[in-house]
Amino acid sequence: MNADHVRARRLATQLRDLRSVAGLLPDALVLLDAQGRVRWSNPAAASLLGIAWPRDRGVPVAERFARSEVGQWLRQHDDESEDVAAPTDPAVRLQMALIPFGDRQQLLRARDVSHMSRLEQVRRDFVANVSHELRTPLTVIHGYLELLDPEDVPALAPVLKEMRAQSQRMRQIVEDLLALSRLEMQHSLPEERVEMAPMLETLRREAEALSQGRHRITVQDEADADLFGSLKDLHSAFSNLVSNAVRYTTEGGSILIRWRRTPDGAEYSVSDTGYGIPAEHLARLTERFYRVSSSRSRGTGGTGLGLSIVKHVLNLHGAQMRIESEPGKGSTFTCVFDSKRLLTADSGDE
Ligand code: ADP
Repeated sequence: MNADHVRARRLATQLRDLRSVAGLLPDALVLLDAQGRVRWSNPAAASLLGIAWPRDRGVPVAERFARSEVGQWLRQHDDESEDVAAPTDPAVRLQMALIPFGDRQQLLRARDVSHMSRLEQVRRDFVANVSHELRTPLTVIHGYLELLDPEDVPALAPVLKEMRAQSQRMRQIVEDLLALSRLEMQHSLPEERVEMAPMLETLRREAEALSQGRHRITVQDEADADLFGSLKDLHSAFSNLVSNAVRYTTEGGSILIRWRRTPDGAEYSVSDTGYGIPAEHLARLTERFYRVSSSRSRGTGGTGLGLSIVKHVLNLHGAQMRIESEPGKGSTFTCVFDSKRLLTADSGDE
């Protein structure tokens, strides 16, 4: 046997080994050529995606998946997918990724995340059920506490005051958790016109009521545009940001509520001259119950759920949140809306 022959056999063995290994992987792997056609796939691709090799060699995947959630993801993907239904069985949830390699070739990877999705569903149901079950007993306790007059039992007045404050706090946590559960289960929105002029007026009144004259509050309405979406949810998000600005700004500070156009759409922002937030906390602020300072949050009646609610509402509207903050100077929370969400005088709506 000459050297070439030995090398060829070694390469063939290596290739066989690589394919056997790919065959053992639980993830579906599909190699695509520069035109998005199947070059090769592993056995898991047959059960998860319905693509079998060599039968489907040369098939364009975009056409094959045109009518499934996978196809939808392929048309607009920019990152790993949220889970999508498997084309072979909608009960199976897949996380997809498209990884470039070589000369404009791509590796399509699908991972079965059904188990994770089920756990996530169990978590969501659990939180929703517990919150729902707590609501009635809390309302009863709160109602009785309201009936007790501290003047009848002066010795217990401070205790009563504290009990009322704490039961109110518990009620707020339960209401916020229920709001979050509802937002998580919601996939579409009421498509209504959300008029921004009255919205900003309401927000100003709310800010003034919360501030009780301790801050200078300014509203700038420069956009001359309305939004398209859910009035109730957008109000809840916008007023959460206003309430945070008031609660995390000391007396004498300023708060600016602003609605303005940008080249790509419009932005709603709330700026304050408050405590500010150290940079290392910014990425985690929208996690449930995440607080920079628990005592400051509790002291101001916070539940730690406000920014999670804001994030969910914005997600449902295809909008993003931007946070800029400097400790000791203040913060700006901005909700960035795409022009698709805007209703303007010149957009010819209605
Ligand atoms: P909370 O109910 O505690 O205010 P949020 O989810 O609304 O919960 O906010 C999370 C945390 O982010 C707060 O506890 C606070 O530490 C910080 N934060 C939010 N808004 C501001 C702000 N305008 N200025 C300073 N810190 C803020």
